[in-house]
Amino acid sequence: MTMLDLRTDAAPASAFESAAARFGILEKPDLAFTPAIARETEHLYEKVKDFIPAFEWAAYAPYVHAINRLKKERNAVILAHNYQTPDIFHCVADIVGDSLQLARDATQVNAEVIIQCGVHFMAETSKLLNPDKTVLIPDARAGCSLSESITGADVRLLKQRYPGVPVVTYVNTSAEVKAETDICCTSSNVLSVVESLDSDTVLCIPDEYLAMNVARQTNKKILTWKGHCEVHERFTADELLAYKEANPGIEIIGHPECHPDVIAVCDFSGSTSGMINYVKDKRPGRVLLVTECSMASNIQAEVQGVDFVKPCNLCPHMKRITLPKILDSLLNMTDEVLVDPAIADRARLAVERMVNLKQ
Ligand code: SF4
Repeated sequence: MTMLDLRTDAAPASAFESAAARFGILEKPDLAFTPAIARETEHLYEKVKDFIPAFEWAAYAPYVHAINRLKKERNAVILAHNYQTPDIFHCVADIVGDSLQLARDATQVNAEVIIQCGVHFMAETSKLLNPDKTVLIPDARAGCSLSESITGADVRLLKQRYPGVPVVTYVNTSAEVKAETDICCTSSNVLSVVESLDSDTVLCIPDEYLAMNVARQTNKKILTWKGHCEVHERFTADELLAYKEANPGIEIIGHPECHPDVIAVCDFSGSTSGMINYVKDKRPGRVLLVTECSMASNIQAEVQGVDFVKPCNLCPHMKRITLPKILDSLLNMTDEVLVDPAIADRARLAVERMVNLKQ
């Protein structure tokens, strides 16, 4: 995937000065694992020692140290999604959470630069809510099967086919798609958003399974699209029943991007933040999180006494973000995420309608 730059209708790219030109390029630091770096990163290693063997920390620590130093120099804040690896999540991130939480929290910090450790639509959402900040993503190819399942032109065709039917868009979409829709939703508020609309029929796009899951909880007619998350669609109900049989008493909690048959065998379903809160509040003896694999490792470092069973489904897009790429991002001020202001204004409206909804 190439970096989505929606400026073509508005102004030629040359009219925009690059972030590297505005901020300058920094020299790459020495990445040797010295005794001083070992000492200064010791407290961070404590958080990830269950996932990174001590001999491997020598390769991680210089990057962690350099990133934490450079982000101050750049007046940058690092946002990390719950699906990022523990080294990023626990050692260099300033704010962690789900995509909307990250973008909203970033509006509250006094930083000029946002480094988005997540996928491209998340960086766009951060740019929508923080238009005056420079938003960088360490690898602009970090896409998403859901976001890429639908375009703005597809939404325009849907609106022609179903005139007057309100369109609810999952936040896992491009700014171009958000701009064509009435209101956004997240996996935690999709039911409230759908119920808030004054219409018996609602288009809920692009995640087919999220729409099917919400259709089970509302009397409204839900129309949808054939988009799927390539990570969550891999889980099956049979697989989870086998885990239940092998682990008596285990609690299974699933993300609503899974097929409804999968959610039907879960003890709880919620967004990534909802799942994390469930584990922290209920402290189940043994738990299986039906979602991207890194999230279990990230919570495991924070809760004691919970045994995590991990069927490891990784998101290849999230895993494009690494410590070396974050360092490059800070040094070279790349890759900048820009959204055409005309698209941004309409997309922001769809996000803000959701944010302002009384729930
Ligand atoms: S986990 Fe699924 S929804 Fe999330 S970024 Fe990866 S493909 Fe997209």
